[in-house]
Amino acid sequence: MNYFPVFFDLTAQKVLLVGGGEVALRKLALLIRTGAKVTVVSPELHPELGERAAAGQISVALREFIPDDLDGARLVIVATSRRAVNRWIASLSEARGIPVNVVDDREASRFIVPAIIDRDPVLVAISTAGTSPVLARRLRERLEALIPKRIGELALWLRALRHTARRRLRDTGARRRFFEDIVDGAAAQRFVEGDAHGAESLAQQLLARTSSAPREAGTVTLVGAGPGDAELLTLKALRALQDADVILHDRLVPPAVLDMARRDAARICVGKAAGSVGSTQAEINALLIEHALAGKRVVRLKGGDPFIFGRGGEELEALRRAQIRFSVIPGITAAAGCAAYAGIPLTHRDYAHSVTFVAGHKDVDGREPDWRALAKPGITAVFYMGLARVEHIAARLVQHGAADSRPAALVAQGTLADQRVITGTLATIAAAAARAGLQSPALLVVGEVVSLHDSLAWFNSAPKLEVSQSA
Ligand code: SAH
Repeated sequence: MNYFPVFFDLTAQKVLLVGGGEVALRKLALLIRTGAKVTVVSPELHPELGERAAAGQISVALREFIPDDLDGARLVIVATSRRAVNRWIASLSEARGIPVNVVDDREASRFIVPAIIDRDPVLVAISTAGTSPVLARRLRERLEALIPKRIGELALWLRALRHTARRRLRDTGARRRFFEDIVDGAAAQRFVEGDAHGAESLAQQLLARTSSAPREAGTVTLVGAGPGDAELLTLKALRALQDADVILHDRLVPPAVLDMARRDAARICVGKAAGSVGSTQAEINALLIEHALAGKRVVRLKGGDPFIFGRGGEELEALRRAQIRFSVIPGITAAAGCAAYAGIPLTHRDYAHSVTFVAGHKDVDGREPDWRALAKPGITAVFYMGLARVEHIAARLVQHGAADSRPAALVAQGTLADQRVITGTLATIAAAAARAGLQSPALLVVGEVVSLHDSLAWFNSAPKLEVSQSA
């Protein structure tokens, strides 16, 4: 980001405007409204500037700029028609540490002035960092159409409501929810449609209901974040993320997903990437309970689906014991995501009539999966957390009767831009994986369906079109 966006309070501050023509006049019109004390320096004046001076709205020095004009200025806007003069004034302002804008000269400017939508007190500012004024203008037009005309009045009404709400609703969480209900619901809708009376009575009803309701207990929502691509979130997951006060997430959850969350939600990373040392399960359970008891809306965000190798069940059991309300939003599990993005249908009438998800890492008790069942033809086996043990898994399957020519694939960083797919057979896949230097997270898919990858791969790969004989 080249620019830091701010809104500058100029009430009673001296602003120096150098230049007396049309351009200066346009800038002045905005400046005046902020309550700034504007001084215009210019040997000649646009008649309207003269009128404003006569009316006492601005002070004017009817002469060329001199460096002393900068004394006491909080902001400088330079709009003479002489570029060299503009730049000289800009460099003097810089030397004194006063923010300066030279109209139409971004390089000489310390700050730039955005395109705005002005629905006082609501102000939307748009910048393309000077790259394209046309783009900024188009964006503004589109936003203009989206933003209700009466949004400024709505903001003033909400401010008035805040006083009442502060008296009636002691809890800050309850107040926020009250305002969310107003802004998202019928009350604001009525207001912007011009029915201020109706809006007010809806708000009073809501206020009465909210203040008499018992203090809302916290809740925990277990949310599946999907396999990686942020657009694979469900609409419900998105809503939960935008409503959350606190988000406890695994390391596997990609930043693009976290970016979807409410800006001021607290985010706590509780580790738990495969093979990493993070918080223990007991610590995570304790954190969930602690935040929920404090009345927070807690989102527990897990990679993929929370109920598939996510220990979601254990966390819910702990919440149940603590009598905390919870709900679950499923996510696209890695097997579904990786299979789709690798062009490997997990079932297929000709190849596989069932699919089994298997934990590929070593069980703490040293228990092994039912290799004989997994080795049977006609099923697809998907191994999670198995990258380090591909060789072991392939060998066991073959030992228990699978053909060593059975197709196998590894999908790493599935659904993400850097997804990689390595295919082979039970005999070759381990060596192929080692050669490719795949990194976790990766998923091992074993079964005849893998052979479809060659013709169905579509993501991150050039389409494999049949080349006809005549071509
Ligand atoms: N609850 C998750 C799984 C957690 S176990 C789910 O439903 O997907 C973690 C394992 O998931 C990783 O070791 C890896 O095998 C698999 N995995 C998760 N995301 C993946 C991705 N983007 N690509 C490949 N495998 C992934």
